[in-house]
Amino acid sequence: NNLVIAIDGYSSCGKSTLAKALAKKLGFIYVDSGAMYRAVTLYFLRNNINISNDEQVADALKHIELNFHSRDYESHITLNGEEVSDEIRLMHVSENVSEVSAHKIVRHEMVKQQQRMGKSKNIVMDGRDIGTTVFPEAPLKFFMTADPKIRAERRFKELEHKGNNSTTLEEVFENLAHRDYADTTRKESPLVRADDAIILDNTDLTQDEQLAFALERVEP
Ligand code: C5P
Repeated sequence: NNLVIAIDGYSSCGKSTLAKALAKKLGFIYVDSGAMYRAVTLYFLRNNINISNDEQVADALKHIELNFHSRDYESHITLNGEEVSDEIRLMHVSENVSEVSAHKIVRHEMVKQQQRMGKSKNIVMDGRDIGTTVFPEAPLKFFMTADPKIRAERRFKELEHKGNNSTTLEEVFENLAHRDYADTTRKESPLVRADDAIILDNTDLTQDEQLAFALERVEP
């Protein structure tokens, strides 16, 4: 039987770093569910999809094909065959993704695709509703948090590292605060800790310490 490890939590609190490390250690496939919502958002922005028009949203989703390709446990996503892994991290996508992902029709389609991915393979999936909605039966769930200031600094450094100098630390902080608010207050599967999720506050933990914490909880 295949295994699913679910990692949920607030924006930029180290979910993907831990998920990748865990996947690598265990030989599982890493799936970044946020990248799927980001790629859908990019498509909607490019094609001026009006998210208050359900018919337009449903039709647009039929024209979107998402695929993951993993290289060295870095996950790459394609949108209709185009590699968009870097573009989906840009600010204009981050600023719109929470509104797009609050849409019932969008969530329904993404959850369906995510559940399919977990059917036959061992996976580590990170996101906001993985332990509550996508895989409520997952035997191992983590709920990650970290101090918002630290999170903003980490994300800012990451953007800087990728050569993006147009976004300020304040803008990153505002965006995280906005997404945390939108993600926890939306109607469709809001971000909440699953009752059986293990809390992992990584404010003061190194990446190795987080990995060790998680591995200790993986059944031998
Ligand atoms: O994980 P990441 O920060 O890249 O996710 C971007 C956004 O996608 C989140 O702020 C949230 O609005 C949405 N998302 C979601 N459900 C998931 C993963 C991401 O609603 N499972």
